[in-house]
Formats: sequence, structure tokens, C-alpha cells
Amino acid sequence: MSLRLFNTMTRTIEPLVPVVPGRVTLYTCGPTIWNYAHIGNFRTFVFEDLLRRWLKASGYAVYQIMNLTDVDDRIIGEAGKRGVPIREFTSPFADAFHEDRKFLRVQDAEEYPRATDFIEPMVRLIEGLLAKGVAYRGDDGSIYFSIERFPAYGRLSQLDKRELKAGASARVASDEYAKEDARDFALWKAAKPEDEAVSAAWDAPFGRGRPGWHLECSAMALELIGRKFGADVLDIHAGGVDLIFPHHEDEIAQSCAFTGQVDFARIWMHGEFLNVRGQKMSKRYGNYTTPRDLREDGVDPGALRLLFFQTHYRQKLDLTDEALAASREGARRLGGFARRLQDAAGQGVESGEFVALAEKLDAGFREALDDDLNAPRAVAAAFDFVSEGNRLLDQGQLPGPRAVEAWRLVDSVLDASTAVKFTSTGSGVDVNALLVLPETPPAGGDDALDWARHWAEARVIAKAKKDFSEADRIRKLLADHGFEVRDSRNGSEVVRK
Ligand SMILES: [Zn+2]
Repeated sequence: MSLRLFNTMTRTIEPLVPVVPGRVTLYTCGPTIWNYAHIGNFRTFVFEDLLRRWLKASGYAVYQIMNLTDVDDRIIGEAGKRGVPIREFTSPFADAFHEDRKFLRVQDAEEYPRATDFIEPMVRLIEGLLAKGVAYRGDDGSIYFSIERFPAYGRLSQLDKRELKAGASARVASDEYAKEDARDFALWKAAKPEDEAVSAAWDAPFGRGRPGWHLECSAMALELIGRKFGADVLDIHAGGVDLIFPHHEDEIAQSCAFTGQVDFARIWMHGEFLNVRGQKMSKRYGNYTTPRDLREDGVDPGALRLLFFQTHYRQKLDLTDEALAASREGARRLGGFARRLQDAAGQGVESGEFVALAEKLDAGFREALDDDLNAPRAVAAAFDFVSEGNRLLDQGQLPGPRAVEAWRLVDSVLDASTAVKFTSTGSGVDVNALLVLPETPPAGGDDALDWARHWAEARVIAKAKKDFSEADRIRKLLADHGFEVRDSRNGSEVVRK
């Protein structure tokens, strides 16, 4: 079975057939760095991270490009208000994006081009479109793309022809516009004084100005895959559903009119929205949440990834406190099991039951993700393995390389386990740098005491971070298993009750 993905262009699930076997070029529309990206944006980035990880686990060499939009209407407006050049205004948000991305364990793409570093390829692309007669200069001095001259316009978003005709006589200069406004869009906007004031204008043979938003992605994608592989068609292009129109429609028009290829990307993938307690996330509703807010609230990134993966990327997801609490337990369970498996593996010959269980996990997990990245089914296969695996471990059966290998695949693709970072607080317990603590103590007196000491360390750290609810939770957890925490000047110690 090979990887099949839902292609928005054809509205069907198709096998992935890359331009060059074994290699996938992947373009994912990145953030506009005028603000902190919210977790709705990050749902899309985590879905793309899953895609990336699964492609790699399936043996593909992946070349992923994610752009950072650092010039557009909103950025120019905000930089103008502050009286600083756009570069100065956007750079801290670029850093913040990478911080947030790393917090949510989103792997590095191969390229993070910033639009303002690619003005030259953008100018070349516009010159090509002017030469082909699909672009023209408007009476405002800006350069527009003529959708009438590109008959395939509307193919991705399946705009009906009547709507198109109604709008085709007009033009639109703003970066974002509504579906009913299908019309000629700006490739290059003639420089205005407010652009010059924030260093957002460049010289070009067709007049001084700045690129339109849609142009950026076409120019950077074609430039980078051209430079790297001599290619002019992407294997996969992905983004949020809100980008289908006009952004991706416009990207296709510019790119295909320029290259003469039928496709700009072989497969178009779109991730659905994240709602918060039933509402679309928006500053207006006061439910605008960023990864840094969640990090400050002590939310476990593994839990958030698990929550995302429990809904298919093509379905809307509702973020609630209850759902997050449930996935927090789930992430802990995954982490706890990983540790138990690791500890038990290598202690003897792997039991036949464990080998069979590992094979079942491997087949179920691969089959689920090969089927249009069905993460909910992949997660279910992982939890089946945890339940069954715990049962076998309780019976004293030993896991070995097969079970560890199967689990490693799951962990490397989902990366949704809780990981607790410890630093020693001088209690004499030898603490690993990165440790996952199970919620229940292992059998055996000394091991259980050791387990309790580790939790006591975690409690000291929680208190130091002023996370008193976590500290109380740990005290209660230890009490439930017969341990009492005693605080002293030198930290804390645990004793058996
Ligand atoms: Zn884009």
C-alpha cells in the first residue's frame, strides 16, 4: 500500500506520484509575520509537520519550503504606525514564530524564505507574465494579472463561470478579497509614500513598487525548486482551507501562465479550521490563543499535538478545556508507556505475543497514515498497543527489538508524548536530562520509592515555576500511592506513610 492523499484540485483521494521517484518537494504557506501566529494557524502547521514526518518515515527525501510573508498591506500599516522600517517591525515576529514552532515540536523545513529577500525573482516572474501578455499595467501604475487571459482560472476553487464573468472587468489591489470578487489581482503595486516611509518599495523595470501577496509564494517556490532541482512543478502544496481562494487560485494562475505547465503542484492539500469552544478564533471574540499563551499556562505540547491528531485534518476541530485535559492524560499515558517499554526491553528474549502485537501496531499505523493521513486511526492503533502492551508487561512478558522498533516509528511520527524536563535540585536523585514519569509507580519497593523521589523533584520544579496546582496534584498523586512529601530548607523529601 502506498501513500494516498486527498487532492483539493480533483476532490478525490489519489496516490502520491512525485515528479522524481523518491523525492517530494513540499511548499507550505507560512505565517505573515505581523503578529504572533495563533493556535489555529498552528493546527495547520502541525498537520503539515505530520505530513512531512510521514513522508520521511515512508522513505522520501523531503524538500520543504515555508515562506515568511514580511511585506503586505497589514505589515506596512503597522510599521507605519510605529514609524519603523518593515524589516525592523517583522523580525521579532519571525523569531517568535520559530520559538512557537519549536515548542510545538514542528520540525525544521529545509527553507524559510522571506519575501523581501526574493524581490529579484518576483520581478523576473512579472516580466515574464508581461511578455506573455497575461499581465498589464493599470492606470494606477500597478501591474495586474488578467484572469481572462488564463482560461484555467477558478479550477482549484471551482468558481462558477457566471460569477467570474461578473467580476472580470474589475480589478482588486488589496491582498485579500472575497470569493464573489474574482477579478484581476495585483502582482506589483506602484509605490506610495506610505510604502516608501517604511522601506517597502523596490525598483523594477515596470516601475517602483512592491509585490502583491500572492506573487510571493509563486516566485519563491519556483525560484527555490528551480535552483535546487531544475524543477518547475511542486509535488505537494499545502495550507489552510482559507487559502484555497483567492491565494492558491492566484498562485496557480501566475505560476502556470509563467511555466506553461498544466499544474503548479501535483497535489493540493488543505487543513480545516480550529474553533475555540464552538467559535471561530478571532481577536474580536476574545478567544485568540497563541502557543506562547498555552506554554505560559503550562500546557503540554505533546497533549496539544495529540489533540490535533485525534481529529482528521480535513475536519473542523473544536478546542475545549475538557478535550485538552483528556489529551493531557493521553500524552502522559503515551510517555509513561514508552518508559515502561524501554525499561523492560532488553531484559531477555522478546515474547511471541509482543512480536505479534508489534506487527499489528506497525501494520495498523502505516495503513492509517497512508490513507490520507488518517491520524485519528493511527492514534487509536497506538493506544491499542499501549493497553495490550501494559497487559503483557503485567503478565511478566518481555518486549524486545520488534516492539521497540514499532513504538519508535509511532513516537517519531506523532511526537505526542509528555516529556518532563528535570534539573537536579540536590536531593541526590540521579535524574536524566529528559525523563518521562509514569503516573503509577512500578512494582517493587525500591523502584516505587525511586519513582516517588522523581515526582518529588518534579514538584519542587513546579513550585519554583509557581505552578502550584501542579505541585498540589503531585502531592496528591504521591499520597494516593502511599507517600508523603515533606518540605525542608534543602528541598523536599518523600517518605512512605
Ligand atoms: Zn502562499
